[in-house]
Amino acid sequence: ARQFTRPLNDLANQFNTILAAIAGAERVFEVLEEAPESGDEQAAVELERVRGEIVFEAVDFSYEPGVRTLRGIDLHVAPGQTLALVGSTGAGKSTIVQLISRFYAPDRGRILIDGRDIAGIRRHSLRSHMGFVLQDVFLFQDTIRENIRYGRLEATDAEVEEAARLANAHGFIAKLPRGYDTVLGQDGGGISQGQRQLLSIARAMLAGPSILVLDEATSSVDTVTEIKIQEALYRLMQGRTNIVIAHRLGTIRRADQIAVVEDGQIVERGSHESLLQARGRYYDLVHAGEREAGA
Ligand code: ADP
Repeated sequence: ARQFTRPLNDLANQFNTILAAIAGAERVFEVLEEAPESGDEQAAVELERVRGEIVFEAVDFSYEPGVRTLRGIDLHVAPGQTLALVGSTGAGKSTIVQLISRFYAPDRGRILIDGRDIAGIRRHSLRSHMGFVLQDVFLFQDTIRENIRYGRLEATDAEVEEAARLANAHGFIAKLPRGYDTVLGQDGGGISQGQRQLLSIARAMLAGPSILVLDEATSSVDTVTEIKIQEALYRLMQGRTNIVIAHRLGTIRRADQIAVVEDGQIVERGSHESLLQARGRYYDLVHAGEREAGA
């Protein structure tokens, strides 16, 4: 499961490196925004409002010359819809997600948000409309309150707490001796993996992005926390365009659209029911999953 998230983890690690060196979250944004961007960046525009339509048109991408990672990717996600990306490790799911945030640029084809080629949109502007809930949550050595507020720096304490409630995080936070003032250690010190997930959901909730990217955790947490996470995620996804790298059948079934990614290509696409009926790759994956789960 580690390999599923490697590139996104690299991104989180880069963040952590920067964060280790400086104190305030506000400063982090400045540093990231000042980071040199590709040549055309000067001409690129800001995105004001985003409805959240995502289109991939015949996108090819290689990390290294001669090794094609993605081939002919076509996708259309309507505003407010959920797309689940499924497929084995190394298939290209994380790469698709990274292209949407302009972390890399396609070699061929285009990616459009609300009909606009993202190559012409400033990176930080693009990302300000996107939320990420990844497997490895990055937390700062700061209070829980500030860690959540990182989602939207100008949020009030009341808004931070409201986001925590919506994310099912308020309960555990309130039980800590220092509550929202609890200072987290470098590795989130003292709170569980599941609780870290809840904090990252609270952060995304506060940010309120039009587009949400979720990399569903594969690590096991206790059943009660698992239910809390699922419920909070479901709430977070409402009214947004969601791209989910999905591992759980429950999440996948609820998606409006499922794309099966294999060896850098989308080999099947449709709803859970239609794909089961087709008895193709998706059908095989679901049944392999059931065998693994001992069902
Ligand atoms: P998935 O998310 O489906 O597990 P990835 O998008 O992470 O798949 O990976 C797709 C392919 O690209 C894999 O062969 C992987 O090894 C390769 N890959 C991923 N990230 C990088 C990178 N930063 N540099 C070179 N190759 C990479």
